[in-house]
Amino acid sequence: MHSITALCDDLGDIPFTTDPVILRRKSRDQFVISPLLRGELAGHVAEIVVTPRDKDEVARSVSAAVKHRIPITPRGGGTANYGQSVPLHGGMVLDMIDLNKILSVEHGVIRAQAGANMAEMEAAARAKGWELRLFPSTIATSTIGGFVAGGSGGVGSAMWGMLRDRGNIGAIEVMSAEETPRLFDISGDEIELVHHAYGANAIITEIEMPLGPAWDWRACIVAFPDFDDALRFGVQLARETGLLRRLASVHEWPIPNLMRELKGVVPQEHSMVICFIAPPSLAGFRCMVNEFGGHVVADHGLDETPFGAPLHEFCYGHGLRQIQKTVPTFTGLQGMFRGSAMFEAIAEVRSKVSREEPFRLELFWSDGEVVAMGSPQIAFRGAKQMADLVELVQASGGVVANSHTTGVREVGIKRITPRDVAFKREMDPLGLLNPGKLNLEGVQESALQTSGWRFRARS
Ligand SMILES: Cc1cc2nc3c(=O)[nH]c(=O)nc-3n(C[C@H](O)[C@H](O)[C@H](O)COP(=O)(O)OP(=O)(O)OC[C@H]3O[C@@H](n4cnc5c(N)ncnc54)[C@H](O)[C@@H]3O)c2cc1C
Repeated sequence: MHSITALCDDLGDIPFTTDPVILRRKSRDQFVISPLLRGELAGHVAEIVVTPRDKDEVARSVSAAVKHRIPITPRGGGTANYGQSVPLHGGMVLDMIDLNKILSVEHGVIRAQAGANMAEMEAAARAKGWELRLFPSTIATSTIGGFVAGGSGGVGSAMWGMLRDRGNIGAIEVMSAEETPRLFDISGDEIELVHHAYGANAIITEIEMPLGPAWDWRACIVAFPDFDDALRFGVQLARETGLLRRLASVHEWPIPNLMRELKGVVPQEHSMVICFIAPPSLAGFRCMVNEFGGHVVADHGLDETPFGAPLHEFCYGHGLRQIQKTVPTFTGLQGMFRGSAMFEAIAEVRSKVSREEPFRLELFWSDGEVVAMGSPQIAFRGAKQMADLVELVQASGGVVANSHTTGVREVGIKRITPRDVAFKREMDPLGLLNPGKLNLEGVQESALQTSGWRFRARS
């Protein structure tokens, strides 16, 4: 137990609560999406939730927590899906949700406080003719700080690449976890230190993101009688650098039938590709649809939601969510297939799984090439079955990030270099930031032995 009473005395007028109902709510994220994490993470609860209203209050909260050696878990919208925002060692949840000001939209760049809601940022950018380059399918509730600290990419990645690709995050202001917290401005390749580190090495206070020109995107579903054609179409669409495309998301039959709201939209036995295309590119897009033997079965504006939710809420992490409404036991992996052997690798995996275990793949740019991220969706029967699927994907030439564990290293999307170790020690000398997530010594035991995603090394 930590000295919460002493902490409360030091917090003064900074809003906080120890209400058990709120503590439980603010100690959870969306880890239930993983059948392996569901049991593992239950019962980890913060002892206090502090909700600072400005940077000065963040600094005073952090200072007080450090003084009393209380763990600090930063939190945004709480939509993380690996339990990144679960306080494994109790202590203080630093709820950044009231640090939500959009500070400027100028010259194609948006600057906001870390707790700014991403849908509000998108609206603010659009009001000035710009839009976010990338957003997660959880845009409605997630914060920019949580996305940068916990996410990897999403809608927009088919055109712009992932968050980690150079240039997609402009600058970050971070605060150290010390009794006298310090602020640092980070840009260039140093951004990689903070991105996807789960707030375990710095507290993000402000972020600057470059924007893209705003388009009135058309959200389309293209149906294909053959999965291979759907996949080749999706990959080629992402590769067509002249086409304005924000999303290319491939779903093998019977997924369209398992997504309740899409039932009947896609013909029987057809796979689908969900695409966002800008009006100037629609003619070229339709030519591509014909070339690959597909047909457009839905086409509407982004503000229209004929399926009860915007179409991006059928892609990325939300794709599984939609399937789980019909088959709650469904799950999958974050496999990644790249390079010239991508099609063969996916075909190899498909040849070894049943047609009731359909592929879901997001197509996007990463490190200068188009990659397919996803795996067959399987009805979960146990850890052994998941481990077998990991082995199959890896043996077929894919790489797998472990979406069923909470550690930065163990998930394997971010590589930990000696610079990361030095940065963590500098910013968090007492190891109080989100403890249990960033293991400096080496990989901890995990039920799944995954390779992690591989990226081109940067010097
Ligand atoms: C259905 C579903 C769909 C998803 N789709 C996507 C997707 O398309 N792309 C994607 O990348 N992710 C996706 N995710 C994961 C997650 O929703 C996103 O990464 C989201 O942007 C996280 O934002 P948040 O504000 O909810 O962060 P939180 O869940 O609150 O936090 C995420 C991590 O960041 C840390 N953190 C939060 N704020 C700060 C801060 N100010 N300073 C330092 N650390 C901080 C937390 O401690 C935690 O480790 C999905 C998750 C679900 C459940």
